Amino acid sequence: MLYNQVQDLKGTIRVYCRVRPFLQGQTNGQSTVDYIGENGNIMIVNPLKQGKDARKVFSFNKVFGQNVSQEQIYIDTQPLIRSVLDGFNVCIFAYGQTGSGKTYTMSGPDMTTEQTWGVNYRALRDLFQISKERSDFIRYEVGVQMIEIYNEQFTLTTSTLDIRNNSQLNGLNVPDASWVPVSSTQDVLEFMRIGQKNRAVGATALNERSSRSHSVLTIHVYGKELVSGSILKGCLHLVDLAGSGQAKTLMFVHISPEVNAIGETISTLKFAERVASIELGAARSNKETGEIQELKEEISNLKLALEKKEAEVEQLKVGNVRSMTES
Ligand code: ADP
Ligand code: MG
Repeated sequence: MLYNQVQDLKGTIRVYCRVRPFLQGQTNGQSTVDYIGENGNIMIVNPLKQGKDARKVFSFNKVFGQNVSQEQIYIDTQPLIRSVLDGFNVCIFAYGQTGSGKTYTMSGPDMTTEQTWGVNYRALRDLFQISKERSDFIRYEVGVQMIEIYNEQFTLTTSTLDIRNNSQLNGLNVPDASWVPVSSTQDVLEFMRIGQKNRAVGATALNERSSRSHSVLTIHVYGKELVSGSILKGCLHLVDLAGSGQAKTLMFVHISPEVNAIGETISTLKFAERVASIELGAARSNKETGEIQELKEEISNLKLALEKKEAEVEQLKVGNVRSMTES
């Protein structure tokens, strides 16, 4: 039983690329991101190279520029989150070099407000909201588990979020009896805080630590259809730093725009593009000779360069019209 038409996302690995803004105190001069096109294309310029070798286009499902808000990122993630309530398993993970914005996307900044909430809080808020909307048809029970792996040590925080006031649902039990019930987003925030506390480190050490630890937030959803009695099971893995995944996978690949990160930027994008192309069936097939491949790359470079020029001409036109009307 499907409430959302999310079939188009099924079985593929989608890859979204996000460029973080320059941080305060960093040189805001030169960016290695030359241009972001309309259809998931990003052109990277390598200042260490000359001529046509200096520019390269990478293609993904979507590319988000420096000014894209957390809300916008979530809007493009939401269909996957919703499909968890339809019984799909979803894995979302963040990939990229340290400092490129993985934790920001998944959780938000250190002192987060609702506006800067990352995917995890927004996903949980949605799960509550949607299950409430569906409560006439389906009773949901949600369990949350947070795992952190650091220095080969393992921290586990678990909790059960019972949407219907903490009572058992006609024999529908979350398998691990030790899970504690909670019933609102507020409870989840508290749960996250407990998770942070379990890490038992001071705030200063936290940053350094979080860049070297893996964290996985898993949300299990059990739903019982009231009329048919059939049971839905879905789960959502939110993985910060390293990950693996089944059924539906979304990878957020992150890049820093600074010139001194160009090496990491290009290798990260190359890796992520390979992930995308394998699943999208557009893999550089073995049959394709290197020559054809090179030509294809050149064509995609030229295409995006043309798109960029057209956008610049458009800007100039707008500017001309404005100065004509002003004078
Ligand atoms: P990572 O987890 O990949 O090591 P972080 O998420 O910790 O990187 O980001 C590094 C720094 O950049 C943090 O101070 C974070 O708040 C900031 N940052 C990352 N992405 C953004 C963004 N999109 N907008 C504003 N600040 C960001
Ligand atoms: Mg991090």
